[in-house]
Amino acid sequence: MSGTGVEIRDVARRFGPGAAALDGVSLSVRPGEFVALLGPSGSGKTTLLRILGGLDHADAGSVAIGGRDMAGVPARERGIGFVFQSYALFRHMDVFSNVAFGLRVRRRNRPPAAEIAERVRRLLSLVQIPEMERRYPDQLSGGQRQRVALARALAIEPSLLLLDEPFGALDAQVRKDLRLWLRGLQEEVGITTILVTHDQDEAMEVADRVAVMRAGRIAQFGTPDALLENPADAFVAGFLGEANRLLCTVRAGVAHFEGDALPPLPVQAPEGRALAFIRPHELLARAAPDGPFTLRALRPAGPGTRLVVTGPRGSFDAVAAPDAPLPRRGEPCALEAQAARIFPA
Ligand code: ADP
Ligand code: MG
Repeated sequence: MSGTGVEIRDVARRFGPGAAALDGVSLSVRPGEFVALLGPSGSGKTTLLRILGGLDHADAGSVAIGGRDMAGVPARERGIGFVFQSYALFRHMDVFSNVAFGLRVRRRNRPPAAEIAERVRRLLSLVQIPEMERRYPDQLSGGQRQRVALARALAIEPSLLLLDEPFGALDAQVRKDLRLWLRGLQEEVGITTILVTHDQDEAMEVADRVAVMRAGRIAQFGTPDALLENPADAFVAGFLGEANRLLCTVRAGVAHFEGDALPPLPVQAPEGRALAFIRPHELLARAAPDGPFTLRALRPAGPGTRLVVTGPRGSFDAVAAPDAPLPRRGEPCALEAQAARIFPA
């Protein structure tokens, strides 16, 4: 198995008179790359995935997979593996038959039974449930079912794997384990993968690049680091990672925070009213007898103990200044921003 590139150009899709579900989406995925589509509910992620898979059509724009334009190519001829959140396995079929299904129903190129069996066993060991081939779906845990769904998707040796919230129905720890496992598997198999999720941790942890979607558009496409370091706009800055928000005014390259709550900070931003996004590790708290903030809670975590401080304008997540004693709960504090991302308010 190996991956193909995907070229999505100016794809639009409208379902009714309201806002478009997709409003001019372009995205280029490299062969073998793992891309996450991340965005709030309703931002168009599933619609884009369905259009890629040939389960829905675009009103405008084009999709090419492996350099081939997909207009008019039916879903089953696209060489795509699909896994959905509730990808109902066939309940009356055991695990083996579920995984073999896509090969057994082939009219052309159907492998002989012995080869199908060998391929299914190889896949079940790849997804690490080799001993379960005679079980039925209702005898499996949620995580095991999704592994079967993945094995079934991979059985046809797709060149592109599309996953729509595949772990959405599982509990937090299983999700975490499975996504790391998925990433390892994807690297092993080398298949181009597009994962839809609304969970930023999931996207940031597994994907080479993340496309942040908002209202049918791609707000930004980049590596997790690039998105965190250089968010394109306030939406991305607010959506990714934790960030404190503070109003400020930029004058001559210096941000002056509302109410002078924090010392002014040199920034590169246009003049005027702005919203500053400051990540907790960029916000230092130190005990100060006449400081405007009060330490409310601290989560000891070795170096960089996380602090929650409150002030007249709400509550902030900060870290303890490394050069000062740790403030005590209830003690007055001062805050200092070391960096901020600034967007016009
Ligand atoms: P996401 O997967 O990001 O939650 P979707 O792609 O499912 O978003 O939906 C994007 C928008 O398109 C939403 O406003 C949704 O209500 C609308 N939509 C999606 N599918 C249909 C459909 N089959 N009929 C009508 N509206 C739809
Ligand atoms: Mg969806």
